[in-house]
Amino acid sequence: MNYDFDFAVAGGGPAGSSAAIALAQHGHSVILLEREAFPRFHIGESLLSTANEAFAALGLAKKMEAANFPVKWGARLFTHDGLSGRGVDFATVTEVMRPQTYQVPRSEFDRILMDRAREAGVDVRERHRVIACDFTPDAAVLEVTRNDEERFTMRVRALVDATGRQGLLAKKFNLRTDEPRLANIAIFSHYANVPLIEGERPNDIRIVARADSGWFWLIPISAELMSVGVVLPKNLFLQMPDGTNEERLDRAIADTPLVARLMKDARREWPVRVEKDFSYRASTYAGDRWILAGDAGSFLDPVFSTGVSIAMESGIEAAAELDRAVRRNDFSARNFAAFSRRQRRRYETFRQFVIGFYSPQFRDLFFDPEPPRRMFRAVVTVLSGRWNARPATRFMNSLFFALVALQKRFKFARSRFRRDATAGYP
Ligand SMILES: Cc1cc2nc3c(=O)[nH]c(=O)nc-3n(C[C@H](O)[C@H](O)[C@H](O)COP(=O)(O)OP(=O)(O)OC[C@H]3O[C@@H](n4cnc5c(N)ncnc54)[C@H](O)[C@@H]3O)c2cc1C
Repeated sequence: MNYDFDFAVAGGGPAGSSAAIALAQHGHSVILLEREAFPRFHIGESLLSTANEAFAALGLAKKMEAANFPVKWGARLFTHDGLSGRGVDFATVTEVMRPQTYQVPRSEFDRILMDRAREAGVDVRERHRVIACDFTPDAAVLEVTRNDEERFTMRVRALVDATGRQGLLAKKFNLRTDEPRLANIAIFSHYANVPLIEGERPNDIRIVARADSGWFWLIPISAELMSVGVVLPKNLFLQMPDGTNEERLDRAIADTPLVARLMKDARREWPVRVEKDFSYRASTYAGDRWILAGDAGSFLDPVFSTGVSIAMESGIEAAAELDRAVRRNDFSARNFAAFSRRQRRRYETFRQFVIGFYSPQFRDLFFDPEPPRRMFRAVVTVLSGRWNARPATRFMNSLFFALVALQKRFKFARSRFRRDATAGYP
């Protein structure tokens, strides 16, 4: 067979660049097709500890250090009034290569990954949009536009779909199932003049639970800029008085006392954006001559900052899977079954925490200033990105969820969160 390249990757976000770099490292010829011109804005700025493993595998660790991004050691959790809360310290985790990670302006971060792909030998094409694809027994055939004008087709052995929430193949094959309990909406912008956390580890992410079921993130993405956003279940978003996006965000800030205090001198540097961040999963993550990576497969509410780490990991795994397929000369869906199972398991592990977060009893325990130490360390291990933790850690996590279930009936931990219908929990 004649192929233009061994593999094509559609989408140049963290999943696509990671898959492309890893495929090139395996010795394959790769084309990366990205519809935008970089740098471009993207949300998703806080990383997990396990991202370091991806950086090491992709030859990015030194570039990440040199980029001088704000360093993140974990999270600080606060109730809406700031009166209660605790830290989530990744340094307590023993199951990761390196606990300290980063907060990143995505325009810069995604560009670093894409440049690394070029360096690894990938043919990177910006302003190239994949508009259609077909799969024959021998090839994946892509239709591509350049600058949304010129059209051409290309033949490759297989396609990695890393088109993010746009979901090229998920749409074509109707693969997506939405999570009705995670139908949330995010309103956000970047601000100057927001004070950092005082004392050690000033660049940790701050997560502020609102009095209702919504929550805020505050993420320092540079020495000057703080990314600030609120996530609200759709039912609460729809109850907000009509207004512009700016007015909605200002209102949410004003009625969250701790955030209002932190933002009193803040200056907004970007327009306010609103994104529907409904979570979804795919019925399968691979088929004959195609494989999904990152958000193109599944997406989870951003509360635990899992997206970019999952995207990079799944991109690297997709590349390993395709490399195996070359050696077996078998690009069939059956050959990719283990890959699909792994994506599903990772999604379900994180999903349990995310679903939990949108319940008052989970929050009672999670925001408790003095939770049982070993159990909380096990929780933090998963939240640092180690979804496939050791059996002992997984056991402690099941105990944690057993306590959450008990809290619903017995309230043995102090009840810090409203339970009435207007709090808007799903
Ligand atoms: C409100 C919100 C907050 C978030 N916060 C965090 C966070 O703090 N931490 C975190 O880790 N994650 C966060 N996320 C999730 C994170 O944004 C994503 O999980 C991550 O960007 C996924 O990477 P990806 O490479 O799969 O997709 P993307 O980063 O979306 O990249 C997809 C790329 O594909 C390109 N593309 C699309 N269609 C085509 C096409 N047809 N042809 C060619 N190119 C195409 C797009 O232009 C884009 O560059 C957040 C998400 C939301 C909505």
